[in-house]
Amino acid sequence: MDMSSKNARVRNAPHGDDESQDMPSPAHAPQRVSRQRTEKSAAIADQLLAWYDRERRHLPWRLAPGVTADPYRVWLSEIMLQQTTVKAVIPYFETFTRRWPTVTAMATADLDDILAAWAGLGYYSRARNLHKCAGVVASQYGGKFPDTEAALLALPGVGPYTAAAIAAIGFGLKAVVVDGNVERVVARLNAIETVMPQAKPELRRAAAAITPDLRAGDFAQAMMDLGATICSPRRPSCLMCPISTACMAHKSGIAETLPKRAVKAARPVRRAIAFVALREDGAVLLRRRPPEGLLGGMMEVPSTAWNAELPPAKDALRGAPVRAQWWPVPSEVVHVFTHFRLEVQVYRALVPVDVALHLWAEPARCKFVARRDLHAEALPSLMRKILAHGLEGI
Ligand code: SF4
Repeated sequence: MDMSSKNARVRNAPHGDDESQDMPSPAHAPQRVSRQRTEKSAAIADQLLAWYDRERRHLPWRLAPGVTADPYRVWLSEIMLQQTTVKAVIPYFETFTRRWPTVTAMATADLDDILAAWAGLGYYSRARNLHKCAGVVASQYGGKFPDTEAALLALPGVGPYTAAAIAAIGFGLKAVVVDGNVERVVARLNAIETVMPQAKPELRRAAAAITPDLRAGDFAQAMMDLGATICSPRRPSCLMCPISTACMAHKSGIAETLPKRAVKAARPVRRAIAFVALREDGAVLLRRRPPEGLLGGMMEVPSTAWNAELPPAKDALRGAPVRAQWWPVPSEVVHVFTHFRLEVQVYRALVPVDVALHLWAEPARCKFVARRDLHAEALPSLMRKILAHGLEGI
C-alpha cells in the first residue's frame, strides 16, 4: 500500500469543511458503533424473552419462566437431547426421573439397568458417561452438581455446550449456550456467510454478543425454541419471528442458505452378516459388545465384522457362533450411523437347547434370552431391527 499518498490525503483535508464537521471524530466513532450494537443486542434479547414468556414449549424438564430449574434434570435432559429429538426424549426422560429421581440414585444404579433403559436412544457412550458422571457428582460433590461452568466441564460426558446449558438453565449463571439451533439463528441474524465449521468461533462471538446478563437460562431456551420451531433449517417462518426486524439474512432474502455448509462426502457403506440363533425353547442368542467403541457395552446379535465388503457366504458361515443349518432371510436390514451406512444380511437357525457355542463366538460374552424378555435387554435399535427381521414369521 502507498502509505505516503494516504497520509498526504489526511494531512491535506481542508479545515472547516462542512463534511468533516458532521463526521464523528475517530476517537468517538468506535464507541458510538459499540453503543448501537449493545442497544441492538439488548433489544433482540428483550424481544426474544418476551416471546419465550408467551410461546415457550412446555417440556417436562422446564419450570416457569424466571424459575431456576433442577441441575440434575437439566443435565439429564441435555445429555438425552444430544443428537435426538425432543419428541423421542420425553418418554425416556420421564422413565429415568421416575426410576432415578436424583443424581445419587442414578450413581447407585446398575450400569446394565441404565443401558437397558437407554436402549433405542442411540449414541450409547452417553449412557455410560451418564452413569460415570452421576458417580462423580455423588462421590466428589456430595450429590450436588458443581455450580461453575469450569467444574461442570470437567465432569465425564459434559462438553462445552452441556456445561454452559447447566450453568445457565440450572444455576441462572450468565453462560453462552451454543448448539446447532443457536448457530443457525445467529448466522442468519448477522448474515454470516463463512462456511461451517470455520464459522464456529464467529458464531460463538455473535451468540455471546446477544446473551443478556440476567435470565441467561431463559434466553438460551428461547434461542433453542426459536431454532426448533421458527428459524428451522429449510423453511424459516420469518413472518412469525419475534426478531425479524433485526435479522440481516431475512432482509437480504438469504435466510434459507445460512449457515453455509461445505458439500458433504457420501457416507461410506459397511456390510455384515448377522446370525439369529433361535433355541428350541424359544430363547435367542445375544452377545455383549466390548465396553469401548461403537455401541460399547450394549447387547448384540453376533455377526461378522462390519467391513466394506462381505466375506464369501461359505467363509462367513464358518464364523457363525454355533454349528447349525443356517438359512438366509430374504432382503436386508439397513441402518444409518452418523459416519457410515450399515447393510446387514441376516441368517437364522433353529438350534437344540444343549447347543455348544464355538470358542470364537466368545461364550463368556454370550447368553440365550427368552423372546419374551428381550425388551428388558440393552439392545440398540439396529439389533432390535435385526432380531425383528430374523424372527419374522417364527
Ligand atoms: S427472521 Fe427468519 S431467518 Fe431471521 S432469525 Fe427469524 S426466522 Fe430466522
